[in-house]
Amino acid sequence: MSRRYKVLALVGDGIAHEIVPEALKLLEAVQTVYGFDLEVLGPYEFGAKYYADHDMKEGWDPAVTRELLFEADCWFKGPVGLPEYLNRLPGPYLPINQRLDMDVYANVRPCRLRPGVDSVLVGREPGDIDYIVLRENTEHMYVRVGGQLTRGGETELAVDNYIQTRKGCERIIRYGYELAMSGDYKGRAGAPVDGARRLTCAAKWGICKGDNLFKAICEELEPGYPDVETDYAWIDAWSYWAIMRPGYYDVVVMPNQYGDIMSDMSGAVQGSMGLAGSINAGDRHCYAEPTHGSAPDIAGKEIANPTSLMLSVGMMLNWLGDKRGDQRLKDAWRGVDAAVDMVLAARRVRTPDLGGSSSTAEFGDAVVEALAPA
Ligand code: NAD
Repeated sequence: MSRRYKVLALVGDGIAHEIVPEALKLLEAVQTVYGFDLEVLGPYEFGAKYYADHDMKEGWDPAVTRELLFEADCWFKGPVGLPEYLNRLPGPYLPINQRLDMDVYANVRPCRLRPGVDSVLVGREPGDIDYIVLRENTEHMYVRVGGQLTRGGETELAVDNYIQTRKGCERIIRYGYELAMSGDYKGRAGAPVDGARRLTCAAKWGICKGDNLFKAICEELEPGYPDVETDYAWIDAWSYWAIMRPGYYDVVVMPNQYGDIMSDMSGAVQGSMGLAGSINAGDRHCYAEPTHGSAPDIAGKEIANPTSLMLSVGMMLNWLGDKRGDQRLKDAWRGVDAAVDMVLAARRVRTPDLGGSSSTAEFGDAVVEALAPA
């Protein structure tokens, strides 16, 4: 008997209110086109504003229990956080805690120059840029092991600890090799410039002990993946090479904070943050969210590009298809990916970040209309 998959939807702050409805529309449509059955739980409100307005003890709407999150086959969220609430709210509402709690250790953030999108890099054409920033998601600077010294009401010292473990490095680097071999989430497997399946290990060894470990473990694993070329780059140099020769890169694995920063830069490299999708994937859980934040500068104007979240939920379906052995879900991801390309290539419907004047909903409708069985 065909299974009904449970997908939980959380809204978030700012433009989340505009892009989440487009992701829901897409999930409705893919079920019809690809013939599977989803039970969408929610959408539930959450985020900084919701938290502040509702004085919640646990940081979540009481309807969104930890059990509900863990029982769902997968889930997705819009961005959360608003600058006016920064450091004013306690931690539990933050998605970063879910990354640790659910152990979704791989943050997969593709950067592809798509048809119909003008590159900010001179002379680059669609197909010339197609790499994945693979960010370790549970270690490094964001583990919140640290503290501060406050005397007489004044904070005098603050400490964050940067942590890398053998287990954490090993599993994310293996994930990177496997991504390079599968070509998942890419337009085409391999690096655009030469077709080589290439894993670039990017960190700051020689300076940071944790990054020495990251590189050493990549060197240990390298012989086990003879079909993938291994490349090493200091993260500062990589930020230069990603702009100068983006076509050389295929999968680029890096510790948490570097991946956070480099994937925003890659938002620009692919033409707009509004195109930057991502999943947080583990062995048992996965949730999708765009790479970007709540974009307060454009929120409420109905002009946000929903592509980032639509691609994210497509990637999430691909993860679920792998875990449940359901090809229909994997076909749905390829269908979403192709539909986005088709709408962008036509240059008829596009949001202002790409130089157009269409609304968020008009773009979402166009993607849904372009969906076709694989
Ligand atoms: P941002 O990513 O929200 O915005 C950066 C720029 O990209 C802005 O100019 C914005 O208009 C543009 N942009 C982002 N998404 C877009 C879209 N879909 N379509 C068109 N343009 C888009 O970064 P910020 O302004 O520094 O952060 C705003 C808030 O979001 C902060 O409170 C931050 O903490 C939070 N944040 C949340 C997440 C998350 O939920 N995972 C990630 C990053 C930032």
